[in-house]
Amino acid sequence: MRLKIAIQKSGRLYEESVKLLKECGIDFNNSMNKLRTEATNFPLEILFLRDDDIPQYVADKVAAIGIVGENVIAEKKQKVKIMEQLGFGKCRLSIAVPKDKKYEGLKSLNGKRIATSYSHVLTAFLKKNKIKAEIHDISGSVEIAPGIGLAEAICDLVSSGSTLFSNGLKEVETVMKSEAALIANPGLNRQEREIVDKLIFRMRAAKKARKNKYILLNAPRKNLNKIISLIPGMKSPTVLPLAEKDWCSIHSVIHEDEFWEVIEKLKEYGAQGILVVPIEKMVI
Ligand code: ATP
Ligand code: MG
Repeated sequence: MRLKIAIQKSGRLYEESVKLLKECGIDFNNSMNKLRTEATNFPLEILFLRDDDIPQYVADKVAAIGIVGENVIAEKKQKVKIMEQLGFGKCRLSIAVPKDKKYEGLKSLNGKRIATSYSHVLTAFLKKNKIKAEIHDISGSVEIAPGIGLAEAICDLVSSGSTLFSNGLKEVETVMKSEAALIANPGLNRQEREIVDKLIFRMRAAKKARKNKYILLNAPRKNLNKIISLIPGMKSPTVLPLAEKDWCSIHSVIHEDEFWEVIEKLKEYGAQGILVVPIEKMVI
């Protein structure tokens, strides 16, 4: 029994999807131009598809699970279950208008034409906000629509905003935030569910590990308690004696978000020789 997973064939989610599966310890050959491949050490078959098609393949159970952006999941309205957000492919679906146009809130969009590839999501957003605008559904290069006179505004994916900027547009509203997610067919049997659970368990361990670092340092024993309260670690830090009597070595785990702040405090408390190393997997 092999579970099929659909991932993007090429594009913005491809590399991170492959990387995540490999970080889960799953080996497979992903040489270019392959449409499907089997993992050698996990009951998984990987299908490489266009991201737009993934929700439907999963809904139809051609693939049991898939990795795709939440933006695509929302737009395609297929019956799939979101199992886990994956923390990459972060972007937002935003409305943008030409830089030099006056914009005074959503009501400025009344009666305007908005070009987008996300007509379902945009329709729901406009309806919720009681705005009546004309939606032009186009499949690509949405950002040039105002420049060629097709629309007065666009609704498209943005991450840094540089594409908007170079097309003379400014972002004025966020319609939705998105990141890549693992989706599943809602009708999986027990055996399939077990494989999915195993995979999710590994994905969480890989995701957690990325966000945490292993930290080792030497510190004067008199400040030990203060330092332990700064870096409590998973259960409690390891404290080892040093040959120098009043000193000890402390090993712990530290979260990426608080990293710099904690390092500064550690130095204040006399910590020396601070080493920070990446963690490959983290199971709590
Ligand atoms: P495909 O050939 O598979 O249909 P595509 O051209 O539709 O690919 P990509 O541009 O590769 O799609 O984007 C895939 C996903 O990456 C998007 O649906 C979105 O979830 C995410 N993403 C992250 N940042 C951005 C961004 N700045 N612009 C577009 N998509 C982004
Ligand atoms: Mg696509």
